[in-house]
Amino acid sequence: MNEFSKTEQDYLKAIYHLQEKTADLVNITDIATELKVSAPSATEMIKRLAKKNLVDHKKYYGVFLKPEGYQEARFILKSHRVWETFLVEMAGYQLHEVHAEAENLEHASSRKLIERLHALMKFPTSDPHGSEIPAECFWHGKLVRLDLSEAMVAERYEIVSLSAGVERFLQKLALRKPKFITLLEVLADRSVIVKTDADVRFVVPHFQKKDWQLKCYKNMIDKAV
Ligand SMILES: [Zn+2]
Repeated sequence: MNEFSKTEQDYLKAIYHLQEKTADLVNITDIATELKVSAPSATEMIKRLAKKNLVDHKKYYGVFLKPEGYQEARFILKSHRVWETFLVEMAGYQLHEVHAEAENLEHASSRKLIERLHALMKFPTSDPHGSEIPAECFWHGKLVRLDLSEAMVAERYEIVSLSAGVERFLQKLALRKPKFITLLEVLADRSVIVKTDADVRFVVPHFQKKDWQLKCYKNMIDKAV
């Protein structure tokens, strides 16, 4: 199902967390402590991950994630948090019950499954513990480029570019340029209400819609995929 083993994923996750905490290269001893394994077996595993181009090990300085390892760690994080959200929101679990389930499910889930669940729940940005769910999409169907006049209600879009006029418009509203928007409603005059991932809502006037260049992945819409 996944190209990496559970152990490999746990290592990547541990290195990711330690890297976040220390903002530096990570000691093998710290990895071993975090995963409750011996230092020699952690060293052995780091060698394996380095061979797969997932981490780099700088002698005397420590370990850091390479792009592919970093992405896989972020995916596991997303998988864990999407499952915790799903279990509470959709399956009636109590908050204290979800972590143990998610620890297993995070490794057993394909990228497609996690992205579908995330879409099914309308792209929540945080899990029930309040931790951020990574916003990046790890499974891509067909890429579609469009502007805001072609966008669909309840879909979330990544912003590719905005015209200079729109950038000025946002500045005047004291809004930071969003990375993603969700179309909430089309008004009678064809203006639209959108929201950012931070739940800031605003109106985009109908004459400005073509100036919002967007992209999305068709897998989120197309039920037949
Ligand atoms: Zn958890």
